[in-house]
Amino acid sequence: MESGRLEGKVAVITGGASGIGLACAKRYAQEGAAIVISDLGINRLEAAAADIRKGTNGKVMFYEADVCHEEQIEALMNAAIKEFGHIDTVLAAAGVSSASYVSGENGEGPVGSDDGQLINKSLDEWNKVLQINLTGVMLTDRLAARIMIDQGTGGTIVNIASSAARVALPGAVDYCVSKAGVAMLTHAFSVEMIEHNIRVNAIGPGFIETPMTQGMQDDADGTEMMLGMTPMGRLGKPLEMANTALYLACDESSYTTGATLYPSGGMHVS
Ligand code: NAP
Repeated sequence: MESGRLEGKVAVITGGASGIGLACAKRYAQEGAAIVISDLGINRLEAAAADIRKGTNGKVMFYEADVCHEEQIEALMNAAIKEFGHIDTVLAAAGVSSASYVSGENGEGPVGSDDGQLINKSLDEWNKVLQINLTGVMLTDRLAARIMIDQGTGGTIVNIASSAARVALPGAVDYCVSKAGVAMLTHAFSVEMIEHNIRVNAIGPGFIETPMTQGMQDDADGTEMMLGMTPMGRLGKPLEMANTALYLACDESSYTTGATLYPSGGMHVS
């Protein structure tokens, strides 16, 4: 029997109860990985874990952790080690599109709206987006890397940046800056990790069908804006992001580190 591309590996995934993180968790599980998902909210973590278990090896656990708190991410990594013995690949997908964003709710401030102009934004709002989207990824990456270094077995880290790392979205300056930070974090940290055989890469999705874009999908102007920026003329599927992340997480990308791939339907990312 052909073995999966992540057979015997243990994957820790933040933002794993929703959208792109959940799609990655399912895809990684199909390829044989034991999965540890983390997110905010025990109920949806439980539901997501049950969903991932279907049709896979069933090795799935969840652990609630806020990526802004180092001790919670540390506890997440320790819980993964306790359950599965090692960590081989990490996906940092937790994120918000704005300070007021809550996934699944069509609230304020979807990416690219004309709300949230920087000139009017409070420092607290700015700090919140940077804290979750950039500092949260940094904490996830380095805590995972410390464990991988101790294990001595190398590993892979995949960060979820965004096409907004390279494409300016008015109304979302904080988001764009946070994602540009993730792309550079990925590159700079990858160089430090080469001697430890840990590869660090990122993906920069275009507009994807997840709760994060639901508000814009439900709004004619929002939809026009997203499709107008996307030469393929459609939104991306979470599975398409998961397939890109899988490539970076497994040995097929063995000569790739520090890269950000942009699965974005042809969006011009210069
Ligand atoms: P999503 O469905 O909202 O998933 C993001 C998850 O992260 C949510 O479950 C969210 O929980 C969680 N989260 C937020 N703050 C957190 C924190 N402090 N600690 C732990 N978890 C936290 O959106 P998605 O589209 O899958 O987004 C996944 C990643 O892809 C994000 O980094 C996003 O910026 C990026 N991305 C998305 C798109 C797109 O078009 N969808 C495009 C480019 C990049 P809450 O519901 O509680 O906030």
